Amino acid sequence: MQEQIIDDKILEKMTLSNVYKIFNENIFPMLNEEERQFCLEIQKFCIELEPKVNDSKDVYELFSELGKHGFMQRVNPWHDYKPFGMKIELLLSMNLSILDAELDAARFTSSVLCANALFHYFHHSGKNEKIQKIKDELMSGEKIGSLCITEPGRGSDSVNMTTMCTKSNDSIIYNGKKVFTTNGPKADYFVVYGVYDKENPRQTMVQTLIPREFGIKTKRIAISSAPRIHVAQTYFDNVKVPQEFILADNGDGYKRLFEGLVPERLVITANGIGVCWGALIYGMIYTNFRSQFGQDIVKFEGVGFSLADLLSKVTAATALTLQVGTIYDKKVLFAERPSKEVAKWVAGVVSQAKYHTARLSHEVCYEVQQQMGGISLTDNTPLDRITNVSKIEEVIGGARNIQLLIIQNALRKVKKLL
Ligand SMILES: Cc1cc2nc3c(=O)[nH]c(=O)nc-3n(C[C@H](O)[C@H](O)[C@H](O)COP(=O)(O)OP(=O)(O)OC[C@H]3O[C@@H](n4cnc5c(N)ncnc54)[C@H](O)[C@@H]3O)c2cc1C
Repeated sequence: MQEQIIDDKILEKMTLSNVYKIFNENIFPMLNEEERQFCLEIQKFCIELEPKVNDSKDVYELFSELGKHGFMQRVNPWHDYKPFGMKIELLLSMNLSILDAELDAARFTSSVLCANALFHYFHHSGKNEKIQKIKDELMSGEKIGSLCITEPGRGSDSVNMTTMCTKSNDSIIYNGKKVFTTNGPKADYFVVYGVYDKENPRQTMVQTLIPREFGIKTKRIAISSAPRIHVAQTYFDNVKVPQEFILADNGDGYKRLFEGLVPERLVITANGIGVCWGALIYGMIYTNFRSQFGQDIVKFEGVGFSLADLLSKVTAATALTLQVGTIYDKKVLFAERPSKEVAKWVAGVVSQAKYHTARLSHEVCYEVQQQMGGISLTDNTPLDRITNVSKIEEVIGGARNIQLLIIQNALRKVKKLL
């Protein structure tokens, strides 16, 4: 802290353990005993990790700490870490994001956006020792992964990508450029999409795991709202990838792209929920202990009603997200015969949850800062850091209008139903 202006009595209440206490009060009634115990476990870990979280240092050195406890990812089983599943992953992301939303975003990019492609690969294919080793390296947090979909000219329209693949004996040669590669400048491994034919991307899309040493070049882009995460422009100049690193070939890459989007958008939503609760709870604590005109400011309707409005919206967003996770686990992830109907519903409703939460996270941060006043713009509280991260939530994983486009597509089916 550069210079303390916050009252000592308020500062001593603004602890992470108090934040989790209030968070638990609000969400535990929605959880079963195993889920509650998991929250307590990750919260204990986060409270112990907090002294190592440094606002001026990159997040990456904390990956191995996460990996040691099996906290890089919990969607899929890995080693003996339990519990696992989508709802558990969402709880992991929410809790970690309350501590440090940038760390959580870098984490889930490496372990969900990137490593999930490897889990999907093993789900569909047989043995591959090299890929297995890389999966373990990513899950342990020893190595860093990234995902390359977006290109400079193809953001929202990402399916019509221009990164070209050409077959050459038992290899594929990649040529093209990707942009906004989260973790890119630091990454050891890249899950990369390309096409054999730009005119037929759906039929020819390929998904490949490419180690950096195969010739990938990255240059860091400055993203000032998330300064502790490295984001890159990524170059593929005749990058040769042997057959054994191809995860999905000849159009199967397109199916995997969509398979990956559901978990991706769900974890982004959970990260946004963590941002909402973090900002709101620090605001709740501050306004309960700060007094003006002789009373605690939360008692002024202008302050208390605004926070009440935000609390009701954040609870609704949390309940929706956890419910989607519950249904996904029961009817898709752990089901003997996964329901296609439910998988389709989840793919649509995830866009609703992501759209709603991403917008809400920015609203919550901005409004809480107004209710807290000047202190929230200083380094005496974590509010301004949290607000900064909230700015990227609507863009990552597909911008606002793309979520609305997906939701609107569902609306247009009403005519067929009647
Ligand atoms: C910090 C950060 C991290 C990211 N991490 C990754 C990553 O790890 N890997 C990766 O592949 N990508 C990543 N992205 C890319 C991200 O998914 C894209 O930025 C996003 O999909 C939007 O693409 P774009 O920025 O090119 O915007 P554009 O597609 O150019 O969109 C610009 C505007 O036009 C609107 N628009 C576009 N098409 C339509 C339409 N049909 N109807 C209505 N409106 C439309 C958009 O909503 C937006 O408002 C990241 C982005 C950021 C900022």
